Amino acid sequence: MSIETPDLRSPVQFLKGVGAQRAEILKRIGIWRASDLLFYFPRDYQDMTERREIEQLEEGNKLQTIVGTIEEWDTRSTSRGQLLNLIVNCNGKGYVKGLWFKMPFIMRDFARGRRVMLTGKPKFDHPFWVMMHPQITYLAETEEEDEVEPYLPIYPLTEGLKQFHLRRILREMLPVYAPLLDEVFPESFLTEHKLLPIREAIPAIHFPPDKVTLMWAKRRFIYQEFFVLQLGLAVRRLQHRTHLKASPLPVDPKIDVRIRQRFPFTLTKAQERVIKEISDDMSRPIPMNRLLQGDVGSGKTVVALYAMLLAVAHGHQAVFMAPTEVLARQHLRTLTRMLENSQVRIAPLFGGQKSSERAGVLQDIATGSAQMIVGTQAIIHNEIPFQKLGLVVIDEQHKFGVMQRAVLKTGEKFDPHYLVMTATPIPRSVTMTLFGDLDVSIMNGMPPGRQKVTTYLAEPERRTAWWDFIARKVSEDGWQGYVVVPLVEESENFDARNLQEVYEQLSTGPFKEFRLGVLHGRMSAEEKEKIMFDFRTGEIQILIATTVIEVGVDVPNANLLTIESAERFGLSQLHQLRGRIGRGKHPGYCTVFYNTTTEESQKRLQAFAKLSDGFKLAEKDFEIRGAGDLFGTQQHGMPPFRVADLVRDKEILYEARQDATAMVLADPGLAQPEHAKLRRQMLGRYGKVLNLGDVG
Ligand code: ADP
Ligand code: MG
Repeated sequence: MSIETPDLRSPVQFLKGVGAQRAEILKRIGIWRASDLLFYFPRDYQDMTERREIEQLEEGNKLQTIVGTIEEWDTRSTSRGQLLNLIVNCNGKGYVKGLWFKMPFIMRDFARGRRVMLTGKPKFDHPFWVMMHPQITYLAETEEEDEVEPYLPIYPLTEGLKQFHLRRILREMLPVYAPLLDEVFPESFLTEHKLLPIREAIPAIHFPPDKVTLMWAKRRFIYQEFFVLQLGLAVRRLQHRTHLKASPLPVDPKIDVRIRQRFPFTLTKAQERVIKEISDDMSRPIPMNRLLQGDVGSGKTVVALYAMLLAVAHGHQAVFMAPTEVLARQHLRTLTRMLENSQVRIAPLFGGQKSSERAGVLQDIATGSAQMIVGTQAIIHNEIPFQKLGLVVIDEQHKFGVMQRAVLKTGEKFDPHYLVMTATPIPRSVTMTLFGDLDVSIMNGMPPGRQKVTTYLAEPERRTAWWDFIARKVSEDGWQGYVVVPLVEESENFDARNLQEVYEQLSTGPFKEFRLGVLHGRMSAEEKEKIMFDFRTGEIQILIATTVIEVGVDVPNANLLTIESAERFGLSQLHQLRGRIGRGKHPGYCTVFYNTTTEESQKRLQAFAKLSDGFKLAEKDFEIRGAGDLFGTQQHGMPPFRVADLVRDKEILYEARQDATAMVLADPGLAQPEHAKLRRQMLGRYGKVLNLGDVG
């Protein structure tokens, strides 16, 4: 059966070369309709431009490809494992031999007389040309050598589906169906932004005539993917601005002076700049929606305090939320100290509070007698009865995407201003996507007095020398230090050092004479607080801990950091940990011990030792890890990118963001007829996650 008029929505079953059985197989990889096939992109290409006749083969390091038919094959056992041996007949002009060790599964698709291509680095071994572990590609019987395209698509496959099946189907259908595709971009836009029209880009991405055309075809789809998301984000920003209302909380010189009196130091240039950005936002009748990125130790807390005091000066309440109780309590101490003898009342909200105590605090919040509320994100939520909430600050946010804004009842009809501070710097391309609807402030540079931290990468044998160094610094100079381990106790699943083991070794060995403390996440909040108190006061000299000390903890006398099984930690985690030291009068020393590592963790650790700038580390980390798992966890609720890659394609992203912002500025509701298709695509893909509602 065949269909009269080709239609992009027609089921693939009726396409030439498909049929009922293969249609079922195609459904398994998400191909139901003709259009699905068009958008089923190759994952790679086989470069046929290096194709040779057998007499043109040359020895050396250059990849070369030959075409021939399978003559015979066998396997034999060798000292290096099972050896698979394939003889390919090159048009009767000679034979090329392919060899594979320990890869018997390759044999599955062998058949005498079957046409194949071998790509590899040939070596002449009389009487044959030999390729070790060549790449093998199966050609259809009908694929005449002359017809083979310069770049053959390599598709992701599934059981029962072969490359040449898909290639043949696409070769047949492309000329018929590609011309039916609908272009979403206005024609002038395509020209202006150097985008290949869809009807050219689709055929080119399947069977590129040359590398340059392939690049342009890919670019078009990457750009489009970024652009549509950036349209959504720009529309969301705009809606935020037009629909939400906040109380304007402007600074005046009197307020400014009063706030600054509270700070024990002069602000840095970066802090001044960011405070200006924040107070400009807060002076408007629309809620601030700002992300503050600063390196570990760059001094974000006083910036937050400035904003909070600004809210309080206008008779509003301000909330300060931290991810952990240890950190929230530290903030509480800092604020209490800085606001000593002031009229500002701070209400602490923590998990372990007695219900009577909590009731009292809630009462104070409801009447407005408490102006600042400090606690953990888990505790501060929608049921808190604010009297007049003007500002929400969220500190050290790791996992925070576009979609999640804490929803807090403000006590009046206005929305609060909003400041989110990151735990560590984030790559620019990630900021633009996951935080793409926020305004961003960057705080670089450190406050004066930050000390240099020297980092060593060390193999386990170096331990003794390092423990000696620590022992000397602690006993002679009164320094303190952290030892960080990835596990609390021994685990069958991980080969890594654990807290118990390390504590036992250190307390009975090199640190016998010191006062040691242990801190980990399974302890109760009071236990943790007690340990932190003892560490701050110097009662504990060396703190052995898991990453609970990772975020924000500030003990200026701690200058020594040991990280055990460092390969277990991510780069931003390591950077956070290192940020705990060098905060006082003395330089810091950090040694990371590692066990067997993969190439990736080796790269990570080397980058860590070499770079101290958190922004550079963030970019490097992203490069090493790749963008792959960014959207994987669904925690951000965003659909994953299909072709774009935030690491590889970041330049295209910057461009798309700028262009999308400009388009929304010129046509806020995307109401112009020529933008209708883009608008539909944007709503289809991001309308829900970005909560765009009815645009226009
Ligand atoms: P982070 O950005 O990591 O949250 P903090 O706000 O905890 O950093 O600040 C780190 C340390 O630097 C704190 O001890 C703080 O008191 C100090 N600090 C912040 N700003 C300044 C400044 N302008 N001059 C001197 N010290 C500062
Ligand atoms: Mg902080």
